[in-house]
Amino acid sequence: DIKLSTRVQRIKPSPTLAVTALAAQLKAQGRDIIGLGAGEPDFDTPEHIKEAAITALHAGKTKYTAVDGIPSLKLAIIDKFSRDNGLTYEADQILVSCGGKHSIFNLFEALLDEGDEVIIPAPYWVSYPDMTLLADGKPVIVTTDQAQGFKMSPEQLDAAITDRTRLLMLNSPSNPTGVAYSRDELRALGEVLLRHPHVLVATDDMYEHILFGDRSFSNILMACPELYDRTIVLNGVSKAYSMTGWRIGYAGGPKKLIGAMKKIQSQSTSNPTSIAQAAAEAALMGDQSCVATMCSAFQQRHDYLVEALNAIPGVDCLPGDGTFYSLPSVKGAMESLGLETDTAFSERLLEHGVALVPGSAFGADGHVRISFATSMDNLKQAVARIRQAVES
Ligand code: PLP
Repeated sequence: DIKLSTRVQRIKPSPTLAVTALAAQLKAQGRDIIGLGAGEPDFDTPEHIKEAAITALHAGKTKYTAVDGIPSLKLAIIDKFSRDNGLTYEADQILVSCGGKHSIFNLFEALLDEGDEVIIPAPYWVSYPDMTLLADGKPVIVTTDQAQGFKMSPEQLDAAITDRTRLLMLNSPSNPTGVAYSRDELRALGEVLLRHPHVLVATDDMYEHILFGDRSFSNILMACPELYDRTIVLNGVSKAYSMTGWRIGYAGGPKKLIGAMKKIQSQSTSNPTSIAQAAAEAALMGDQSCVATMCSAFQQRHDYLVEALNAIPGVDCLPGDGTFYSLPSVKGAMESLGLETDTAFSERLLEHGVALVPGSAFGADGHVRISFATSMDNLKQAVARIRQAVES
């Protein structure tokens, strides 16, 4: 029998990937399943981005690159940070990695020692706590509920900080709630951090561009520039440009920390795929209208879904500000069906042909996460099936 490390036994496989795999398996067996579990846009990668990769391929850009990314992509990222966020970085403050997830992995590996605490507001993206554990850190979960708009208050943040706190992990707009903090709310959180100089903050801006209507994006560093020396900004091309399979994420932050993350990457994956880097450069530097097109489709679906869900008895859905997720409370429906957990509720929905992820995976018991990165037809069918499951 093979003895596995205590490290790997501390963590669980990603539940969102598991639901997607289960839905695919049931479909392959001939079952009629609508998958609302996927964490990726349902659009193809825009043509000009694919073309850039093909051009790079034909030009022989098929060899190792610099570990931290090709210089032209790093310049494109510096340009993006300046253009969209008003943030200034030098080349040695930028690291390109194999997806946004990899950027976070490198960050935790570079920053955390055993027992170091990472403050993670719940509902959270599933990977933050497990990636913290993988790096020997300790997740400190701050619970928020629908009544407070799923947003952590400055008082809650203040109460969660201890001598062992190393990092606050923020994600806005949020996977799984779709909710975004306003600039003022971020400023108020930043002011708490100003009183605790030993705490760093990571802002995961993966959904920056999937923001509805005329809402404008802010992260905590834009709201609180005094935090520049202890903020790491994480972003990537996966969601905004429908490039999940290309695996390009990036980080901007203090030189010392970025250098340490680069060192870890140099001893693990080395550089991200050369032609994917060329594609990411084209995404960041090219015409941005594809982003707005996808975003408006997501908004249309969001508006339909929230209204349709709220019309189902026992389902209560907070409208989001962006992303392609909603996290409705299904507590009423669970009660009327006599189901104890959101996992049991999700299993019941699967019997009715809808696959989605239980909220408990995101630290939100009594909720389910619905991804609306699927066609309007699928969404309408899914809503009908959810209603049928709840009323049966
Ligand atoms: N951060 C958040 C909040 C996400 O939802 C995701 C993907 O689901 C990621 C990071 C990782 O993205 P990538 O596919 O680039 O690794």
